[in-house]
Formats: sequence, C-alpha cells, structure tokens
Amino acid sequence: MKQSKRDDIIQGQMRPGAITRDGMLGVDRRTLRDILDADDAAVRRLGLTHATIAARLRELRAAGARGLGEPIRVDSDLEIRVDSVCGKLPCPFGHPGLYPKEFVEVSNLRTGERVTFTQLNIHLIGTHGFYEGLDSPFRQDPETLARVLGITA
Ligand SMILES: [Zn+2]
Repeated sequence: MKQSKRDDIIQGQMRPGAITRDGMLGVDRRTLRDILDADDAAVRRLGLTHATIAARLRELRAAGARGLGEPIRVDSDLEIRVDSVCGKLPCPFGHPGLYPKEFVEVSNLRTGERVTFTQLNIHLIGTHGFYEGLDSPFRQDPETLARVLGITA
C-alpha cells in the first residue's frame, strides 16, 4: 500500500525523542507503510495473524505478572519476568490511552533465546500489525517471536 499523509504523521511520532528517546524505527529507512507490509507478509508466511501473536504475548505477560518481578516458569521451557518501570507511553497511531512502561522478558530455557517486549508492543502488534523498525531497541521480529515463544498456526 502507498504511504499516506496520515502515515507520515504517525511515522513522525515514531522518531527518536517524540514518544520514546530512541524512537521505534531504529535504522530503518523504509516508509511506515513498507515496514507494515513486510511484517504482514512475514506473519502470513508463518501461517499466523497479528491477533494470534498479540494474544500469546498478552497471555505470557499475564502469567509473568504473577511473579511480581520474580521469574515465573510457564509451559515447561519458558521463564518470564515482568519488570515494571515508572511512566506510561501513548500509541504513536494516535489512540487515546496510555500503556504502562514495563519490560516482559521471556527466556526459552531449551534454546537459550530470549525476547523482551512491552505492553505497547502488544498493542502495536495486535491493533496495528507494527513490530517496530529494524534494529529498534524494541523491534519484535515475527519469526523470532514465533520460534522463541512457541507460537504455532
Ligand atoms: Zn494504537
């Protein structure tokens, strides 16, 4: 799809210093529309949907939150720790509401791989199909999420 004026405005909100210090685009020079299209294709190749991935992240976050900062073991090989930090972040797409700053760290004890995501990531993936730009500190690669978190079609 072609980048619209509105996409340009949203992309502006993703630049460093707008909503977060480091921004949400990393070194990515593509338009927001191209980033969305590429990740949408990647998710389809996996046979998944953004909603399925977001639901899994939400489920793991809820399980991890019961640990109150201590690691919790889930599904035999996943270990989750939820770290709350002060502050809240708005959605760059202009939704009302704020997302608590929080780091959800999930380690796959079988493979040694680890992913870290936030409540804003869950919203961005589930509602917008946005996984952040390449090398952004909170970029969520769909294939990595599927592999590490055991998300299957
Ligand atoms: Zn939103």
